[in-house]
Amino acid sequence: MAIIKAIDEISLPRLCKVSSCVVMTGAGVSAESGIPTFRDAQTGLWSRFNLQELATPEGFEANPRRVWEWYEYRRRIIKKASPNPAHYALVRLEGLFPKEFWLITQNIDGLHASAGSKNVIELHGNIFRNKCFRCSAPVELAEDVAGSAELQKREEIPPRCPRCGGNVRPDVVWFNEPLPGECIDKSIKHSSRCKAFFVVGTSAAVYPAAQLPTVARRAGACLVEINTEPTPVTDYADFTILGKAGEILPKLVERMEQFSVT
Ligand SMILES: [Zn+2]
Repeated sequence: MAIIKAIDEISLPRLCKVSSCVVMTGAGVSAESGIPTFRDAQTGLWSRFNLQELATPEGFEANPRRVWEWYEYRRRIIKKASPNPAHYALVRLEGLFPKEFWLITQNIDGLHASAGSKNVIELHGNIFRNKCFRCSAPVELAEDVAGSAELQKREEIPPRCPRCGGNVRPDVVWFNEPLPGECIDKSIKHSSRCKAFFVVGTSAAVYPAAQLPTVARRAGACLVEINTEPTPVTDYADFTILGKAGEILPKLVERMEQFSVT
């Protein structure tokens, strides 16, 4: 365990005198923008349903309308959210590693891209993208077309795939579904090559995301963890700072920027 009290205990040369950096983020970063976790979003009428019913292929097959409306409800919450200081600090961090920087996120809200991050790998998909449940083709929907009064009249919820007529679903990874192989391969490749690895706002407890910090550590990367409480990563991280990402990251990145110009 290497829980440190202040960011100036972090070895800046180990972070700044390297050319490649990978960051992994999770729900903690979204929470600081006011986005509730899956379970915390289950209020009111949604609290009656379980995970199986709302976020699995089987649940969608059994009641596509209910699942679609659950995701519409969550999209409406997420649309009101904006990037927070942690998101913006990560954009600046990317600027410090022009040769190789990857941001691997378990979040589905798209806020890293909204903030301006470029090399983002969305491990669990993106709630604002859609695809066909039957043929998997990406489906573009007009803004807010789903859930609109017109659609409800036509009872086309969920919308239909223009290619095959199948039900449209959000392009997120559901429980019982494998993560997109291409994203996982890329994530493992970059994690095994990087020299600095940040774990931010995630306990990294769930496979395969859990594998990435260990892969990076084994390959010799300096591992920095920023979380509100200790996690399994704390046991092998080089530096763990406990606190909110939106407070710690901006200060840390500022120090790294100053170090890099001197
Ligand atoms: Zn289709």
